[in-house]
Amino acid sequence: MREVIVVGGGPVGILLACLLAEHGVDVEVLERRTEPSMQARAIGIHPPSMRVLRKAGVADEVLARAVRIEAGSVRCGGRTLGRLSFTRTAGFPFVVALPQYETEAVLRERFRQLRPDGLRSGVLVGTLQDRGDYVDVLAEPADDGPGDNGAEILAAARYVVVADGARGHLRETVGITSHLLGGGDTYLMADYPDTGEHGSEAVLFFEEGGVVESFPLPSGRRRWVAMTPTLMTDAPIDDLTALIRARTGVLLPPSDSAPSAFSVQQRLATAMVRGRVVLVGDAAHEISPIGGQGMNLGWLDALALAPGLKHALAQPIEARATLGDYDRLRRRSARRAARQAGFNMAMGRPVHGLRLRLRNALVRILATPPLNGLLARAFTMRWL
Ligand SMILES: Cc1cc2nc3c(=O)[nH]c(=O)nc-3n(C[C@H](O)[C@H](O)[C@H](O)COP(=O)(O)OP(=O)(O)OC[C@H]3O[C@@H](n4cnc5c(N)ncnc54)[C@H](O)[C@@H]3O)c2cc1C
Repeated sequence: MREVIVVGGGPVGILLACLLAEHGVDVEVLERRTEPSMQARAIGIHPPSMRVLRKAGVADEVLARAVRIEAGSVRCGGRTLGRLSFTRTAGFPFVVALPQYETEAVLRERFRQLRPDGLRSGVLVGTLQDRGDYVDVLAEPADDGPGDNGAEILAAARYVVVADGARGHLRETVGITSHLLGGGDTYLMADYPDTGEHGSEAVLFFEEGGVVESFPLPSGRRRWVAMTPTLMTDAPIDDLTALIRARTGVLLPPSDSAPSAFSVQQRLATAMVRGRVVLVGDAAHEISPIGGQGMNLGWLDALALAPGLKHALAQPIEARATLGDYDRLRRRSARRAARQAGFNMAMGRPVHGLRLRLRNALVRILATPPLNGLLARAFTMRWL
C-alpha cells in the first residue's frame, strides 16, 4: 500500500511526484510509455512555474539548457504595434523556452534521484476502484512494455492522482466528465534555424490572414506557429514556409523538421476530486496552446496539491476540506486560463477592413504603457 500513486509520467505527473517526494510522501508513478515522447509540444515556462521548478530542485538545470525571452513584440503589415517586457518580474524576469521533451528529461532525472525505483514504465492503468479507505489500481503491461504476458497488475494507494493527460480516460472510470470551453481553431507549427533577426524576442504577427507567432529556442532554432483555415495534417514544411512568407514577408531558411498540425479544444473537468482520486494537469483541463499555459497550469496544480495531499494523509479528518479547496481554486484558475487563451485566439483570427483597424487600435492600446504592464502580467501567468 503506497501513500500516493500518480498515473501518468508526463511533465505534470513527474513534477508532482518530485514535490511529494520532497515532502517525504511515499509516491510511485505508473507510466504507459517505455520510451519518452519526442513530440513538439510546450516550450514556454512562465515565472510562477520557475518558482515551482526551483522547489523541485531543477530550476538551475532547466535554465542551463533553455533560452530566456525578456520581451515580445506585436506586428502587423511590417509595422510594430507595441512591445511587452517581462523584465519586471522579481526572481525570474523572463519567460524560459525549452522543448517539453527536454524539460521532461530533467524532471525524470530529478525524480530518479529522489526515488530511484519510483517510476514504473510500460504499465497501462485500466481502471481505478475507490474502496473508501484506499484505491485499487488495475493495470496491465502496455503493448510494448516489459513482460507483456497479459497478466493483470494490482496496486493500491491511499490516494491516486490521475495525470494521464487530455486524452486519458481514467477520470471517467470514477464518474468525472468534462465540458467544452470552446476551441476549433487550427494551427501548423515547425522549428526552423534561427536567422538571429529577432534576437531573443518573441514576435506575434497579427496579420490580415491570421496570426503567425515566433519564439526563440535553444541550439539556434526558432519555433514558428501559424493559424490555418483548416487542419493541415501531413502538410509539408514548404507549405508552412510559404504561408508565413505570404502573411508576414519573412523568408525562413530551409528546415528539416516535420510540421505538426493541431486543432484547439478547451475542456474542463466537472470536478478535480472524487473521493480518494484527484486530477491534475491536462487530465483536468485542456487549455489552448496559444498563449502557452497548459503545462504551466498543471504545474501550479501540482504546487497546490503536494502539500494538500501531505496534509490529507497526516490529518484524515481534514482531508475532505483540504482537497475541496484544491478542487475549487484550481478549477477557478483553469477557467481564467481558458478565458485568456480564448482572448489570445480571437485576437489572432483573420480580420479585414474596418475590423482590422479596430483590432490593431486595441492591440496598440494594450501593448503600450501603462496597459502593456498588465498584459505582460497576464502573459506570464502572474495572476494564476
Ligand atoms: C502543440 C502544443 C504546444 C503547446 N505549448 C505549450 C506551451 O508553450 N506552454 C504550456 O504550458 N503548455 C503547452 N502545451 C500544453 C502541454 O503540452 C500540456 O499541457 C502538457 O503536456 C500536459 O502535461 P500532463 O502531464 O498533464 O499530460 P501529458 O503530457 O499528456 O502526459 C500524460 C502521461 O500519461 C500517460 N498515460 C496516459 N494514459 C495512461 C494510462 N492509462 N496508464 C498509464 N499512463 C498513462 C501518457 O503516456 C503520458 O506520458 C502545448 C500543447 C501542444 C499540443
